[in-house]
Amino acid sequence: MADWEFTITGCGTSHGNPMWGVPAWWSDDRRDRRRRSGAFLRGPQGQVLLFDCGPDLAHQMTDPYRDWDGISYPQRSIVRCDGVLQTHDHADHSHGINDLRHLNRLMKGDGIALYGAEEHLSIIRAMFPYCFGAGVDTYTMSKPSLRTVALADGVATRIAGLDVTPFAMSHGSAGRTTGFRCGTMAYCTDVKELPRAADPLLQDLDLLALSVLRDTPHPTHQSWDEAMDVLARLRPRRTVLMHMGAEVRYAAWAQRLPPGVELAVDGWTTTVAA
Ligand SMILES: [Zn+2]
Ligand SMILES: [Zn+2]
Repeated sequence: MADWEFTITGCGTSHGNPMWGVPAWWSDDRRDRRRRSGAFLRGPQGQVLLFDCGPDLAHQMTDPYRDWDGISYPQRSIVRCDGVLQTHDHADHSHGINDLRHLNRLMKGDGIALYGAEEHLSIIRAMFPYCFGAGVDTYTMSKPSLRTVALADGVATRIAGLDVTPFAMSHGSAGRTTGFRCGTMAYCTDVKELPRAADPLLQDLDLLALSVLRDTPHPTHQSWDEAMDVLARLRPRRTVLMHMGAEVRYAAWAQRLPPGVELAVDGWTTTVAA
């Protein structure tokens, strides 16, 4: 099995971290600078599958590892996209959609497919109709050139050479989100409850990327305790926690991570077998 690179380009919640305007919420620790949610998988032939297309997408594609000096040419930028695995339609996961046009342009007008649950894809098409269908200008790429591909829960689909299996998760009062099993890893963001129906797809994981918002309970996101319960149940070999709230201080949380559990920073990267 070939290795794929998995990189988290944004590990913050919907506001991004830290939040401006309230000095008491600020953090001087660079590890607490979190862009909105984003990640990608890169395959052995250079294929790139994005997880979502949130509002920080252009910055994430320019500087995926957060190691760019901001001045010189960004050598490690992402210049290709073989598909977007769409977890849901929330703004922090979809409102960078317009910036996919630059990836269309870099791929000389090739269209990009968004894969996910039809209930999310239909909302995205309704929010951004100009990105889909006829009339897309493939020469200047003034608009993205996109299509949607609805996936059925629990059914594996081969996308860019990778077996991807979607499954339903609860986003609490916000409805459902889609988790993705990709090879030996799974990507689960915006989770309030991980239904036991998904457990068979979440066995024998080399890596689980899991969202956790903060310590105190929240109606649509897991707290620390809820995330720890999920890990005790699924026992992945390695876990990276992401989608953290502005309250989360890396230095404090790093003290209490159980063995095999890591806290993401923007640019966190590893390899996984696919
Ligand atoms: Zn989110
Ligand atoms: Zn959400």
